[in-house]
Amino acid sequence: MNHEDYMRKAIALALTVPAFPFGAVIVKRVTGEIVAEGYNQFALNPTFHGEMVAINRCAELHHPADWSEFDLYTTAEPCPMCQSAILWAGIGCVYYGTSIPYLQKRHWQQINIRASAVIAQTAFRNTTIVGGILEPVYDLSIAHFPKQHLVKKSACTSHLSIHLLISSFFLRHFSFFGRTAPANFAASYLF
Ligand SMILES: [Zn+2]
Repeated sequence: MNHEDYMRKAIALALTVPAFPFGAVIVKRVTGEIVAEGYNQFALNPTFHGEMVAINRCAELHHPADWSEFDLYTTAEPCPMCQSAILWAGIGCVYYGTSIPYLQKRHWQQINIRASAVIAQTAFRNTTIVGGILEPVYDLSIAHFPKQHLVKKSACTSHLSIHLLISSFFLRHFSFFGRTAPANFAASYLF
């Protein structure tokens, strides 16, 4: 099998989930064997992108001592989460189909950090990344799928502010065990 064959397998996996059509396979470079597969299982767990599922599957099945002998094929450029996981594992090469900018152009939500930028910030690994493998085939395959549901921005920032506001009130007005609380500690985060 060659690069395109592996990517075809990743695309086939991706197309099993039309709402989130992203798939990945991990290949043992020396034997050419596909050792793990994954496709997006967002509904089960928001971190279950195709690459994450494939990496976890590979770990479960093979307990690899040396991940550098594996290559990962993924239909789309890995997001920062997946690229970080790839680096932490130590996978040797990554081949992807379509790019993050293309997905953004098609209104798929993406964190705007390229995989190459994540690699550039990881001095302890030397992962190679190659894009554009069967890109037109994959782009055409997903063109008719509805875009993923828009996710609202997280409200955690405002919750944190309220929490810190309450904390700062108590720290300013009460003391613990007879000692004055460090009033400026929480307040410093707010003002
Ligand atoms: Zn991802």
